[in-house]
Amino acid sequence: MAAPVLLSPPDVGQVEEEYLLRALRSGWVAPVGPDLDAFEREVAERLGVAGAVAVASGTAALHLILLTAGARPGTAVVVPTLTFAATANAVAYTGAQPVFVDCEAGSGNLDPAVLEDLLRRLRAEGTPVAAVVAVDINGRCADHERLRAICAAAGTPLLEDAAQALGSTRDGRPAGSFGLAAALSFNGNKVMTTSGGGMVVSDDPALLARCRHLSTQAREPVAHYEHREVGYNYRLSNLLAALGRAQLTRLDEMINRRRLLRERYAKLFADVPGTRILGEPDAESNCWLTTLVVDDGVTGWTAAELGAHLARHDIETRPMWKPMHQQPVYRDSPALLTGAADRLFGSCVTLPSGSALGPAQVEHVMATVAEFVEAAR
Ligand SMILES: *Cc1c(COP(=O)(O)O)cnc(C)c1O
Repeated sequence: MAAPVLLSPPDVGQVEEEYLLRALRSGWVAPVGPDLDAFEREVAERLGVAGAVAVASGTAALHLILLTAGARPGTAVVVPTLTFAATANAVAYTGAQPVFVDCEAGSGNLDPAVLEDLLRRLRAEGTPVAAVVAVDINGRCADHERLRAICAAAGTPLLEDAAQALGSTRDGRPAGSFGLAAALSFNGNKVMTTSGGGMVVSDDPALLARCRHLSTQAREPVAHYEHREVGYNYRLSNLLAALGRAQLTRLDEMINRRRLLRERYAKLFADVPGTRILGEPDAESNCWLTTLVVDDGVTGWTAAELGAHLARHDIETRPMWKPMHQQPVYRDSPALLTGAADRLFGSCVTLPSGSALGPAQVEHVMATVAEFVEAAR
């Protein structure tokens, strides 16, 4: 039997092997070394930002930028309810209160109008808001121009969770360059991977220096191990940075493959009334994941039924993330909701989207999806 088709498996090969082996043989087998420095430079250059700090995960990157923005007990941080839990968890690490805000139905990204309303309410009740975190869902950039104007008017820093969006742009401007600072992720399922890893990117040298300091146990620059505050051991390994550098040389090629997959799905569902692809149209997305939104009142079938059909053919799919306001752990957190995230949660299926899928796997997926659609007509 053929190997199962995974949603978004890592895409690694010869180039990665060479970079990793060279780093291993260089002796820099530690969270410090030339590949780490070069990886930071190369990503910062690609995004057109002043600098970067490579860390052990996207979650660690989020934690650090939230700390630098002043998130702490007694403050609130606004986070979209439709996101992966890491966005909210990083807020919880700081002791700040996550406050959830609903999304736009079309893109799944944070809804600027609802945010504006929420910030007004928080100000009226005297709650200090340390930051707003915008997430670029499935690689589509949030409406950062509007979000920035709203945050600027409220005097609140805007941070970008660009964990899913490396390589995307909006109006030509790269994801990760919009907020005061952004977090990237190089987890195994993202557009490019270091197996596990992340990065803080920013135009603010002082913010970057602060993140670097906190990521290395807040050790003061003196010989005798002086510490004035509690730091973290968050640095990325030099070996993994080498893996990241290899992936970076292939990033555009890998994104193109994800885009081609998205185009295949779009074509397949173009004449299926009641279906649409989340976040489309968007020619600037890295197409990290392709999520199908199904209006079952029109189609006569549900997103979950399509997922179950694909599972029977060894093809992995996923539902949309369960919104944070529905999570037991965040049940008591405040939220301003329109119902958009709840509706998406109930009507989405995310289809295999990885750049590592081989031609035979792609044809198998498309044929199996087409078979389901035809049978349901
Ligand atoms: C993947 C992801 C993260 C976390 O990144 P890790 O590297 O897995 O810690 C954070 N936010 C979003 C939106 C993500 O998709």
